[in-house]
Amino acid sequence: MSIKDNLLKIKSSLPEHVTLVAVSKTKPVADLMEAYNAGQRIFGENKIQEMTEKWELMPKDIQWHMIGHIQTNKVKFMAPYVSLIHGVDSLKLLEEINKQALKNNRIIDCLLQIHIAEEETKFGLNEVELHDLLGSESFNNLNNIQIIGLMGMATFTENQIQINKEFDHLKSIFDQLKNLNTLSMGMSGDYQLAIERGSTMIRIGSSIFGGR
Ligand SMILES: *Cc1c(COP(=O)(O)O)cnc(C)c1O
Repeated sequence: MSIKDNLLKIKSSLPEHVTLVAVSKTKPVADLMEAYNAGQRIFGENKIQEMTEKWELMPKDIQWHMIGHIQTNKVKFMAPYVSLIHGVDSLKLLEEINKQALKNNRIIDCLLQIHIAEEETKFGLNEVELHDLLGSESFNNLNNIQIIGLMGMATFTENQIQINKEFDHLKSIFDQLKNLNTLSMGMSGDYQLAIERGSTMIRIGSSIFGGR
């Protein structure tokens, strides 16, 4: 199947309240343009430099989402144009995003990444760190960022019971917080489960663009 066919098939299966981020990391601009020409306008990348190169080359009505782990010193390169940053997991990073957003006269939307998986390698805040962050005075002084939701990644496993448990955990944290509208959870392997568990935004790469 072509990129266009993959994309349209997934899109037609999604409930209306679920937003699809087409994860195009490592893929050439020609592949992204195929998705663009099939109507896709939201793309996710996990490296700031690669995302910026693609942003320069591609149509300007695309919304670029940063879904990867972020190095503080690179925030400035995406601050002029990034539409949503999914993987925010520290006050220090938020302060840098706020500083660069201010320089660009913008308010940048962010998601806080929550650690829900069993694997230790996955980034993210635990619940205590989340509440400490949201309750801190420094956080409340940041006027050029807006937290619009949460993001999480389940353990990479075939065990659907475990995946559901982790998604339910993230959803319960999401439901306790006020003024959030975006719950980014679900990838190619688990997005159907994620939608059943309350996801509003899925990040799909290989099922659209093929393996990496
Ligand atoms: C690569 C990536 C995805 C997409 O993964 P697929 O399995 O290819 O759909 C989603 N989220 C994050 C954070 C990623 O790094």
